[in-house]
Order: sequence, then structure tokens, then C-alpha cells
Amino acid sequence: MEGKQLDKHLKRIGEDIWLIEDDRDNLKLTYRGKEIISSKKSPFQQVDIVDLYDFGKCLVLDGVVQTTVLDGYIYNEMISHIPIVTHDYPRDVLIIGGGDCGAANEVLKYEEVQSVDVVEIDEVVVKECIEHLPEISDTVPLDERVNFIFTDGVEYVKNCEKRYDVIIIDSSDPVGPAVQLFSEDFYKDVKKCLKEDGIMVCQSQSPIFNKEILRNTYKILNEYYPIVRVYKAVVPSYPGGMWSFTLASLKYDPVNADTSKLKLNTLYVNREIFEACFKLPNIVKECLIEAANK
Ligand code: SAM
Repeated sequence: MEGKQLDKHLKRIGEDIWLIEDDRDNLKLTYRGKEIISSKKSPFQQVDIVDLYDFGKCLVLDGVVQTTVLDGYIYNEMISHIPIVTHDYPRDVLIIGGGDCGAANEVLKYEEVQSVDVVEIDEVVVKECIEHLPEISDTVPLDERVNFIFTDGVEYVKNCEKRYDVIIIDSSDPVGPAVQLFSEDFYKDVKKCLKEDGIMVCQSQSPIFNKEILRNTYKILNEYYPIVRVYKAVVPSYPGGMWSFTLASLKYDPVNADTSKLKLNTLYVNREIFEACFKLPNIVKECLIEAANK
């Protein structure tokens, strides 16, 4: 990458490369990098793979860190194992977004899963992650159960006739092509794509910095599903550290899941984490009460 024009989020200062994630006017996260492994402009976004000093290799979209080798497994395990184990017999899984393939890799650990459709808007993300981040994409390129569909997830669920046991919405932050992945119309269409005992889960952002998103997500899902549970994990590379996920289910409650089904070839999730992740701090509980009364 020597001598090439760098994306505006990457700066060369002396010998060093710095990645500056512009989270908001008052918060910029700055990472020291060793090397820019690859840099591509796709029709949707700037796709960079950067090797950082403390976080290892990572995927960066439009200057925002999506997943890193150091801590990406926390998010990927939590968004995947919790709904899969909650469902009695998850055969057909849909992942919307998820171009780094980390969530798909976790889902594939379950033999009962027969098909994993990954609906990703940006083919470049998948190609780059398979080529440069095999620590994260792992078995995905070799597993015949995976079917990539390169299209907008919003359009896909609008027109889809297939019905799924589990739908995982592994989207980037609600900017650009991901905005609609946080909308009520989208969640309504997702519900139509579930079997009658289906489960969906989405990442609902930081419960500290993005309360409005968590509140909205919880409020909308409560209108359409009998069981809605918010759970949390700490992901150091996401602003605020604490991250929320919202699971909405037509039949199975994760609080009563048989956690002995959990695959333990994981780095973060285990039976204790599964059971504890639904215990929420007061500030998050208050946010959900506000959402329910809105
Ligand atoms: N773990 C990550 C996080 O929370 O930052 C997100 C993982 S993944 C890289 C997010 C993916 O969603 C990106 O690859 C992006 O291209 C994809 N995406 C964004 N909008 C989309 C849409 N409308 N339909 C399908 N995929 C979308």
C-alpha cells in the first residue's frame, strides 16, 4: 500500500499509520496500525483491512471498525449461539449483513443447521474477509451449507418466500445502507420470513451511547413478538464497550433455554455467560421500561 492515496480515516504520521474512527463530534477513537493490508472502494463503502497494534487485523468500513481478531469473537458468538441454542431445532438460518462471515462461522458449529443464507449488500466485504481475515471467516468458504446472496437485506425480506428458524441481523451501524435495517417496516418483513416458532436477533448498539436505538428496537419488537429479551456483552473495540443485542421470539424464551446444547468450542460464550447475559444494569432496565411505556 506504500505511496497510495489513503482513505481519509487513515493517516500516516511519521513511520506510523493511525486509524481515526469518527464516532461523533465529541468522540474520535484512534488506533495505531502496523499495516494497511488492503483498501478497496466498493459501490457501497470504503472497505479496508488494517493490521492494528493492539487489536490485530480488522475490517474497517467507511472508517468504522467492524470486527477485529482480538475481540470480534465476542460479538459473533453472542449474536449467534444465543438464538441458535434457544431454538429447539434450528435448521434454516438467515444472516442479514454479516459480511465478515464471523457470525456464519459460529452458526455452522451446530450440526442441526442445514442451511445458512447470508444476505450481504456488499460482495467486496465478503471477498476481502475471506482472503485477509481467515481467523474470522474460518470454515465458511468451505462449508456447503452456506449460500451467499449479494443484495440489499431490506429488499430480500420484502420479497422472500423461504421461511427461517433463526434470522440474525448482523448489520453495521445505522448509517448508509444499514439505516433501513433498524426500521419498523424491515422488522415487520423479517417476522414474515420466520417459521411459526422462529427467532430473530439484532445488534441494538451501545446501551450507553445509543439509547434511542435500543429503545426504538425494543419498542418495535415488543409490538410484534410475544417474547423480547435484551442481552449484553462487552466488546472493547465498540464505542462504549458494552453492547446490546435484542432477541425476539415467537415461541422459545432464551431464559429457559437448554444451555447444555451450547457448543463449547468458543472463546467467550459458555453456560454461565448465556445465563448471565440477560441480567441487565439498572440503566438499561430503565431504558427498556421507558420503551415499553412510550
Ligand atoms: N459486527 C459488526 C458491527 O456491529 O459493527 C457488523 C458486521 S458486518 C461487517 C455488517 C455488514 O452489514 C457489512 O458488511 C455491510 O456491508 C452489511 N450491510 C449494511 N447494510 C446492509 C443491507 N441493507 N443489506 C445487507 N447487508 C448490509
